[in-house]
Amino acid sequence: MQVLRADYALLPSGVARDVQIHVQDRQIVAVATGGAHAVNEIAIDGLVLPGMANVHSHAFQRAMAGLAEWDAGGRDNFWSWREAMYRFAERLDPQSQLAIARFLYVEMLKAGYTAVGEFHYLHNRPGGAPYAPAASMMEAIAQAAQETGIALTLLPTLYMQGGVDGRALNERQKRFGKSVSELLDMRTAMRDKTGVAQIGLALHSLRAVPPPAMREAIQSVEPTSPLHIHAAEQTGEIEEAQATLNARPVEWLLNEMHADQRWCLVHSTHINDAETASLAKSGAAAGLCPTTEGNLGDGIFPLEAYLASHGRLAIGGDSHVSVDPAEELKALEYSQRLTLRRRNVGASASEAHTAARLWSLAALGGAQALGLGAGAIVAGARADLVVIDTDHISLAGREDTALLDSYIFVAGKSAVRDVMVGGTWVVGDGRHALELEAAAAYRAAVTRILSD
Ligand SMILES: [Zn+2]
Repeated sequence: MQVLRADYALLPSGVARDVQIHVQDRQIVAVATGGAHAVNEIAIDGLVLPGMANVHSHAFQRAMAGLAEWDAGGRDNFWSWREAMYRFAERLDPQSQLAIARFLYVEMLKAGYTAVGEFHYLHNRPGGAPYAPAASMMEAIAQAAQETGIALTLLPTLYMQGGVDGRALNERQKRFGKSVSELLDMRTAMRDKTGVAQIGLALHSLRAVPPPAMREAIQSVEPTSPLHIHAAEQTGEIEEAQATLNARPVEWLLNEMHADQRWCLVHSTHINDAETASLAKSGAAAGLCPTTEGNLGDGIFPLEAYLASHGRLAIGGDSHVSVDPAEELKALEYSQRLTLRRRNVGASASEAHTAARLWSLAALGGAQALGLGAGAIVAGARADLVVIDTDHISLAGREDTALLDSYIFVAGKSAVRDVMVGGTWVVGDGRHALELEAAAAYRAAVTRILSD
């Protein structure tokens, strides 16, 4: 049993002072404010937050972040970015996948992410031939998680066709293609692997998976398995869905797939008022990826209406142009301020501080989306904790909730000091034991890929 005594902690009721957190095995077993000092108590001079889940990651994209920031002539958009991503993906193999994911997961932990949902569709060799074993690329992901200590929810991703109209995969997309049975076989092989905390299922998108295959795959997995899908990221996708399915994507997923709290609808950017209310009511999480959505020019999520309807949200790093939960939440709030020309859109009558409200909602919604039983500092939750350095220069003179405000809106990840995942400290004093080795291997792998 570890007994932590924190100067401050973010509890479901808000930021509290002098909080005792009892951790046994992988779980928080008791939380109390004040109270007598225990023998062997560990003093935490900082602000303890529930760990944040990064619900949407394509690890390999970390290595191409920044490579698409130029215009090739004409109007650069999501689809031209996707071509650049396909070209990069062609050069990856299980070894470089491991080097990239390992470095990324160290970065995530140091930034305050305690869990990651890996939406993995890079299954085959270039040209489409399977690896032996078929799940080699996913094994690299699991190994990276196991070595770095991040909680991994693996989301093997079904990808079958090149568009809603059922057209075949193009040459580059053949790396992603699996039938339902092939994907389920790989999923079974990965289910009990070391490093996999939870296994779910991802359907790449309405573009890539026909409805009958979607139903078959969902019916074949455990009834509690997390289900993720890219939805309504682009307006072009809305028009395609309306033309072929006679419904908007989120509307269709709610009505035809009965999306509920098992589901994470990644992006959900372009939703109308009815979809906003229905998605909130469904209990599914909206998987928002604010820095990637900004980078790709996707659009702006209707946060205010969604929160007014008590919708559940989670955040994802997606393309990893940023690896920092504070920056994601700040970008989410800033997109609202710029559109509405108001401030503190994420605040509410019960929590006036935007940072506290958004962190609490995203931690809880993220843990739900990854099926992890975490996301709050309460008895019974997984002991995934992040300690913010209250001596950070940007937090000088702050107390209570103002510490969290300055962490999210000013300091960002530079204020993350210690991180615990499932009861084990994996980052101490801003350092991860593997950081130098992981960075060197990453540099070598990426340099090799880009010099080919
Ligand atoms: Zn994505």
